[in-house]
Amino acid sequence: MKIVLLGPPGGGKGTQAAELSRRRGIPAISTGDMFRDHVERGTELGRRVRGFIERGELVPDALVLDMVWDRLAAKDCETGFILDGFPRTVEQAEALDQYLADRGQSLLAVINLEVPAEEIVRRISNRRVCPVCGRSYHMIAMPPAEDERCDVEGAALIHREDDRPEVILRRLEEYHARTEPVVHYYRRAGILRPVCGVASAEQVAAAVLREIEGAAARAVTG
Ligand code: AMP
Repeated sequence: MKIVLLGPPGGGKGTQAAELSRRRGIPAISTGDMFRDHVERGTELGRRVRGFIERGELVPDALVLDMVWDRLAAKDCETGFILDGFPRTVEQAEALDQYLADRGQSLLAVINLEVPAEEIVRRISNRRVCPVCGRSYHMIAMPPAEDERCDVEGAALIHREDDRPEVILRRLEEYHARTEPVVHYYRRAGILRPVCGVASAEQVAAAVLREIEGAAARAVTG
């Protein structure tokens, strides 16, 4: 079961990917989390991508692809995976298709979480994340049980540097210019499944699951 979760920044991809991963027992792979981890550990890749992330710009494809292929080659991806934050350009989507085709595989479905721009800005400004596990919280709609601490790790939640208003605008521009074409790419391929992302996390999770079950049933019956 190979799934891509698309949607604007702050659209709930991380939350939905984590939920789907829990329910389906397949890994959720977030390229944003992987990059943040590299930056934190001060790796060579981390040093190269840091500026792009801080400015809210997409990291060049050449720095994204090898990292993703390495991750997809891991044993836990054998039965499937959920990609969160990748592909973000048509070139990345084409490269992913090629990578899978070379292995006789294909995507089951691409879920597109649809969230209007006003809602995105509201969500991102209220977003806090766990620096240990990457879990996202919304301080009003989805707060942690204990004040500003991750429910799982107990770590103090942080406000991502690139969630500041001026960087959010740049990220949204990048999304419109470079990631929206990916939505059209998958629509043309006939595997795009839109889901309204404006509802509670539980309601969106239920809708995502319905779409995936629909896609799986279609794959079986041909
Ligand atoms: P995210 O956590 O998905 O919002 O990603 C945070 C930042 O990481 C983005 O604003 C980009 O700078 C970078 N990034 C994550 N995934 C990708 C990708 N697939 N292609 C290019 N840049 C990415």
